[in-house]
Amino acid sequence: MIKNYYSPSTLDELLKIKNNTNGVVFSGGTDLFVKMRYGIIKPQTVIDTKKIKSAIKLENRKLIIPLNTTYTDLLEFLKKNKTNLFLEKIIKLIGSPMIRNRGTPIGNIANASPAGDFILATYLLNGNIIIKPTNRIIPIENFILGPSKIDLAQNEIIYAIEIDVKNNYKFFFEKVGKRNAMIISIASIAVLLKENNGKIEDISICFGSVSPTILRDKNIESKIIGEEFSIELFKYLANEFEKLSKPINDVRASKSERKKLVYNLTIKAFYNLKNEVVSI
Ligand SMILES: Cc1cc2nc3c(=O)[nH]c(=O)nc-3n(C[C@H](O)[C@H](O)[C@H](O)COP(=O)(O)OP(=O)(O)OC[C@H]3O[C@@H](n4cnc5c(N)ncnc54)[C@H](O)[C@@H]3O)c2cc1C
Repeated sequence: MIKNYYSPSTLDELLKIKNNTNGVVFSGGTDLFVKMRYGIIKPQTVIDTKKIKSAIKLENRKLIIPLNTTYTDLLEFLKKNKTNLFLEKIIKLIGSPMIRNRGTPIGNIANASPAGDFILATYLLNGNIIIKPTNRIIPIENFILGPSKIDLAQNEIIYAIEIDVKNNYKFFFEKVGKRNAMIISIASIAVLLKENNGKIEDISICFGSVSPTILRDKNIESKIIGEEFSIELFKYLANEFEKLSKPINDVRASKSERKKLVYNLTIKAFYNLKNEVVSI
């Protein structure tokens, strides 16, 4: 049962309370309270960050998403600033409008689920995690240590996520699950692609729910720069990623189904990207 509830209105106050109480920090509560309801965690002290206001920033071709930014806030910002609009396709499949009005990208990252849709977006966009009070800045692939495991000390909090601004790319996202909204994905894929005269100029490919953390391989990506954007290339990628994936069996799908999905989603990505008009 919760014994202490704090609701600081400044970052300094939040950090002080965190240091003194080691309470559990939360924002939307859409992950935390579900876990508490099922008895997975039983914190005595919770620290609500909702009163701390800071704005999303666009600086040096980076988007800085601070704590308490909801998915709805982020969507509005992207539309207003006409940047990274492809993220709309990922965000609009996270939960329901109610969840998007409360849930935050930072909560998604701290939860460290291999099925987390905004974790996938953060890997895709070379994200860094900005931590206070230590001011550590850690690439997402080093920050996520495994399912529900992150590199965060007891006195630290996530202050912001920093992701690349990527415009004029082709984009494909698909998440496979039992229903469209409100699902935990069985497998997901996101691909960002820049083509130059039919050749790959830049690419990032990420898979969710098929490994203990998001699956991305920067070596494979750099090896195919300059290659022709072709079905042969995507068959090669499909084989490589199928081999690299380390899915588990669970109630939603078997290991072998998930491996097959990695292959099929990569091929599907090719046909969709081929017909995709470059979007902002
Ligand atoms: C019905 C429903 C549908 C959902 N659908 C999806 C979906 O489609 N895709 C998906 O990816 N997720 C989904 N989720 C999960 C959840 O909504 C998201 O992960 C959301 O982004 C969590 O954000 P939050 O602010 O609510 O996190 P919270 O619940 O507030 O926090 C989550 C975790 O992060 C920690 N935390 C929060 N803020 C900080 C901080 N500043 N520093 C350090 N730690 C922090 C908390 O201690 C907690 O462990 C769904 C949840 C529900 C209930």
